Amino acid sequence: MKTIDLRSDTVTRPTPAMREAMMRAELGDDVFGDDPTVNALQARIAEMLGKEAALFVPSGTQSNLIASMTHCQRGEEAICGEMSHTYRWEAGGAGVLGSVVQLPLPHQDDGSLALDHIRAAIKPDDAHFARTRLLCLENTIGGKALSMNYTAQATALAREHGLATHLDGARLFNAAVKLGVGAQEIARHFDSVSVCFSKGLGAPVGSALVGPREFIARAHRWRKMLGGGMRQAGVLAGAALHALDHHVQRLSDDHALARRLADGLQGIPGLTVEPPQTNMVFADADERGRGLIEHLKTRGVLATGLYRLRFVTHLDVDAAGIDQAIAAVREHFNA
Ligand SMILES: *Cc1c(COP(=O)(O)O)cnc(C)c1O
Repeated sequence: MKTIDLRSDTVTRPTPAMREAMMRAELGDDVFGDDPTVNALQARIAEMLGKEAALFVPSGTQSNLIASMTHCQRGEEAICGEMSHTYRWEAGGAGVLGSVVQLPLPHQDDGSLALDHIRAAIKPDDAHFARTRLLCLENTIGGKALSMNYTAQATALAREHGLATHLDGARLFNAAVKLGVGAQEIARHFDSVSVCFSKGLGAPVGSALVGPREFIARAHRWRKMLGGGMRQAGVLAGAALHALDHHVQRLSDDHALARRLADGLQGIPGLTVEPPQTNMVFADADERGRGLIEHLKTRGVLATGLYRLRFVTHLDVDAAGIDQAIAAVREHFNA
């Protein structure tokens, strides 16, 4: 039985063509700045996102942490979403390692942070308060693309109050494909952006932090301190370059598969499915859903259910796999 792994878009294995690209990559020691493939990737992603410079890092978690530490001094405050990756899913690193105070705000139904909430969260200059320094947004957030209009308004509000802006764009390209805009159209609203190559783009490892040259120079020192300086990292950067060449436009296939899955799960008594925007399907089950994850596993389908049921499509699933997942869910609900 083939395993259909819908736990995350991080589970992909490099394609044969990507492995070829990794094999062919020219290498050097990137801590000396000598790895031509890393340098090419950094130049490429900076250009794609319309920024001056980029830094290749081992993970999205480190990329966001470096961004927080570069934007904020010790005791300064970053506004973020309460379900945002930077706040909830990075083990509190910004606080523990960065001495950055994170202020989590509730999300609206579309994943955004209400402008009024942001405005109210920004502290006046008063010795009682942490100095509010950074607005951190995430796009896509819970599989939803923030509208261009919202992005423009929220980042303008931040700038009006002298805040820096960071985008956790782990799935920025999913958002761009969904919105039908270039990724740089989204990125241009932010001072810095983090993107993951190891999510929907299908690379085995790696993220990039992009921003102004002076910002990236400071970020480079934090990367070293955090243990993110890698040596012949071109084997990994080669995979990321291949992904940028071949795996961006095809994200629309993942989005179509997510819709196929959601459509196939519609109308099951006991299960409410949220119409997906990108490559993630979220659903909520009543008590009839108890034991679903375990049942799916016996049918070769892997999913997660920490807060809500979540199914993520990616390079390594196809329509037949999605149909296998639909059948397994329906079997559990006798629907
Ligand atoms: C996955 C993810 C990250 C970082 O992931 P790593 O596993 O550390 O590479 C950051 N932000 C979001 C929104 C993510 O989904």
